[in-house]
Amino acid sequence: MAQIVIKDVRKEFGSFTAVQSSTFTVEDGEFFMLLGPSGCGKTTTLRMIAGLELPTSGEIYIGGEEVGQKPASQRDIAFVFQMFALYPHMNVRKNISYPLVSQGMPKAEVRRKVDEVANILGIENIMDRPVSGLSGGDRQRVALGRAIVREPKAFLMDEPLGALDAEFREHMAEELRALHDRMGATTIYVTHDQLEAMQMGDKIVVMNHGVVEQFGKPQDIYDWPATQFVANFIGSPPMNFLDFHGMVGTGSNHVILSEAEIAIPSLLAGANGDLSLGVRPEHLHLSDSAPYRGEIIATEYLGTTQIVTFRTANGDIKARIPSGAQAQVGEITGLTFDARTLSVFDKSTGRALLSDANTEVLGDG
Ligand code: ATP
Repeated sequence: MAQIVIKDVRKEFGSFTAVQSSTFTVEDGEFFMLLGPSGCGKTTTLRMIAGLELPTSGEIYIGGEEVGQKPASQRDIAFVFQMFALYPHMNVRKNISYPLVSQGMPKAEVRRKVDEVANILGIENIMDRPVSGLSGGDRQRVALGRAIVREPKAFLMDEPLGALDAEFREHMAEELRALHDRMGATTIYVTHDQLEAMQMGDKIVVMNHGVVEQFGKPQDIYDWPATQFVANFIGSPPMNFLDFHGMVGTGSNHVILSEAEIAIPSLLAGANGDLSLGVRPEHLHLSDSAPYRGEIIATEYLGTTQIVTFRTANGDIKARIPSGAQAQVGEITGLTFDARTLSVFDKSTGRALLSDANTEVLGDG
């Protein structure tokens, strides 16, 4: 298994730039998510790592070796295109054996390796069955088996669960993650589903319009989004933005919103102009006496919690509060914020202002 390093990688198709100067590192054994909306450059990035596209510039290291301009066949990584790509006329054993047989590996060794893979995947009982009659889940296990058996340096997966219905998708996601934990294989996984990325990934790269917006652990990205794009893309409902115009200086530990003073983590650098206070729905609380006010314009019951929408002088915002808490549409109430969890964004750049609470996470940005 291997570490994968992407350094200043850029990809142009004619005059169109699909990926702009991307840099990130996938550590050996990590389950790594490439996340972003449709067209942001995830698949192109993955194809460059696989060697199916060559970068216009930049370097790609797999296990310490620079492979950026090498063809796929010299990279020793398995691209799990989509899990149903099997040979339908062959049985399960032949499907899984195929990559080893085509390398000319001796029969006994093929048998031993394939049995080992069958054991890892728990599919010993279907090895003699034709793949055409298998359930969707078993087909996916077989397709994975065919990728695993080669013992590649890394696995690349492009929306492998995309075609599945929600329930089955969740089940296969758990199975994939458990398999990864047993094998410890470096895996890069493309998805546009932020929840899937948060649940499965050790680390996430968030991309937008060919640009890496942020790279880090799911919790760090959730707590300290580096940009408004990330704040809005991750979380459901996403982070709220309270827009205001003004100046916050270096060392500021509060902002003024509609004449109310709201405590924030101390800022390491200030900004002047159109700004936005970012607050996650679960960090917003109702408090009758608080000076910052909002009118409840909607409530949505979700079982243990409810989502309450407030209209404020700085925009509509949503709070996630216990479903037992009183919240009536039309009521005007005070709102308080968990100071240590707030972000301030400069709207002209879309970037978060660095504060003492988030330096470790956003320090490089
Ligand atoms: P999706 O989830 O929709 O697949 P993605 O994030 O994986 O999106 P890419 O497939 O990497 O995005 O595409 C990024 C951009 O590059 C898109 O605008 C796409 O149209 C463009 N693109 C991809 N491949 C080519 C190509 N061979 N020639 C020209 N443009 C391309």
